Amino acid sequence: MSVYDYDLITIGGGSGGVRASRMSAAHGARVALIEAGPLGGTCVNVGCIPKKLFSYAANFSTEFIDAGGFGWSPEPVAFDWKTLLANKDHEIARLNGIYARVLQDAGVEVIAGRARVVDAHSVEVDGKILTAAHLLIATGGHAVKPDIPGAALGITSDQAFHLDTLPRRALLVGGGYIAVEFASIFNGLGVATTLIHRGGQLLRGFDDDMGKVLAEELSQQGITLKLNETPRELKQDKGHLQLVLGSGNSLEADLVMFATGRRPNVDGLGLETVGVKLAGNGAVQVDDFYCTAVPSIHAIGDVIDRVQLTPVAIAEGMALARTLFKNEPSRLDYANIPTAVFSHPHVGTVGLTEAAARERNAAVDVYRTRFRPLKATLSGSKERVFMKLVVARDSGKVLGAHMVGDGAGEIIQGIAVALNCGATKAQFDATLGIHPTTAEEFVTMRA
Ligand code: FAD
Ligand code: NDP
Repeated sequence: MSVYDYDLITIGGGSGGVRASRMSAAHGARVALIEAGPLGGTCVNVGCIPKKLFSYAANFSTEFIDAGGFGWSPEPVAFDWKTLLANKDHEIARLNGIYARVLQDAGVEVIAGRARVVDAHSVEVDGKILTAAHLLIATGGHAVKPDIPGAALGITSDQAFHLDTLPRRALLVGGGYIAVEFASIFNGLGVATTLIHRGGQLLRGFDDDMGKVLAEELSQQGITLKLNETPRELKQDKGHLQLVLGSGNSLEADLVMFATGRRPNVDGLGLETVGVKLAGNGAVQVDDFYCTAVPSIHAIGDVIDRVQLTPVAIAEGMALARTLFKNEPSRLDYANIPTAVFSHPHVGTVGLTEAAARERNAAVDVYRTRFRPLKATLSGSKERVFMKLVVARDSGKVLGAHMVGDGAGEIIQGIAVALNCGATKAQFDATLGIHPTTAEEFVTMRA
């Protein structure tokens, strides 16, 4: 009989914590999961899911315009924000319920409340001490605003999911995933949208061509881009907001949203007092097997700040469950993680950027294509698709695949399987295309 109340206590019921808890229970562990908010965490409540629903809503605006070239004369179209919010909230409540059921069915005890680590095996929640052989920190992260006067007048993505009304003019600050996704959402929903980024190129960390091409496409969609501009001060000025920039220029808007990165949720958890090491930004330091400096305390997901993506948090959770309760030490391979940015158009990418491939390989061949998709021939849309393959010259292996265009996330998911199998450019070329699709260009690239 164990001296502890549980084999595992998980703090945080988001993507990583839920999966780690379920899998641990499936491997026979007695598991409790403590969650301070709604089940499902960031992804379900204020991340991937509501964002993608908003993105679908925003994309309809161009679909209505495109339909004209195919003979349709849509009635004057109207958009109702309240309907979208209500339907989105309804879907999220459904998902919260599914998470609760799935955990219950797996035999995981869910405890509502905010937890704090007391010692290597104990957690305090609502004044009660619970003990476990292993503790898992899966507390995710939170959005941070720049340290400028008046920053409190701006919102982050959390509030963007619950706005009472859509603003007439919005300023997005940042040049990463959230900034470009929400710029496309607001723009698609008819908001006059400006994106302000401190760098000269969007999507740092992606292949350079992605940022350049996306900037052209976003401008073409009607988003105003202000690159190489930093926010200096945000002021309330009569009925509107005024964002003063480092250049001295200032911009007026009804809404300012900061999408300037996220930081790990570690405040008040008591981790350092029990000996867990944190990085400068608060990220919990773990080894390859997600173990902290305290052998019984583990951490996964956004709180370790490796790759902030839901499938990564889930995979880390499954690896940890196998390590702890299946006697199969497991770790995640962080190479070739596919990812998509749900801007309009989408960006999809897997593998090495051209720059990273050139650093690691003696010689690299790069194939690029940019073309007008078939649909645009009749719709008149100016949208163009961009695709790129990065190939090692000696082995012929495809090292990276990158795309800006409709459905890029869907297409790159399949390409990621090929890259994980070590596919070569010759094998791409030997694969027949599906005609007429955009995706077929990935197997017909010659230049
Ligand atoms: P979370 O999902 O954040 O869960 C952490 C949980 O811990 C939270 O529920 C929190 O309430 C709880 N918690 C924190 N402290 C305590 C405490 N002391 N006691 C009890 N509970 C606590 N990723 C994608 O792959 N695709 C996307 O399209 C995508 N879109 C995104 C859009 C936005 C706007 C944002 C913000 C993120 C998006 N992400 C996306 C990232 C994704 O949401 C995260 O990588 C993922 O949710 C991380 O999972 P996690 O389990 O580490 O943390
Ligand atoms: P990112 O790290 O992607 O981007 C942050 C942006 O803010 C960068 O452009 C950065 O500039 C800029 N920035 C940071 N600090 C400041 C500052 N003080 N002043 C001005 N600009 C600043 O973070 P996000 O918040 O967009 O997203 C967080 C993470 O969530 C992502 O990295 C991603 O992992 C995940 N996510 C995934 C999504 C998906 O899978 N589709 C969607 C949304 C989020 P610089 O580049 O110069 O550092």
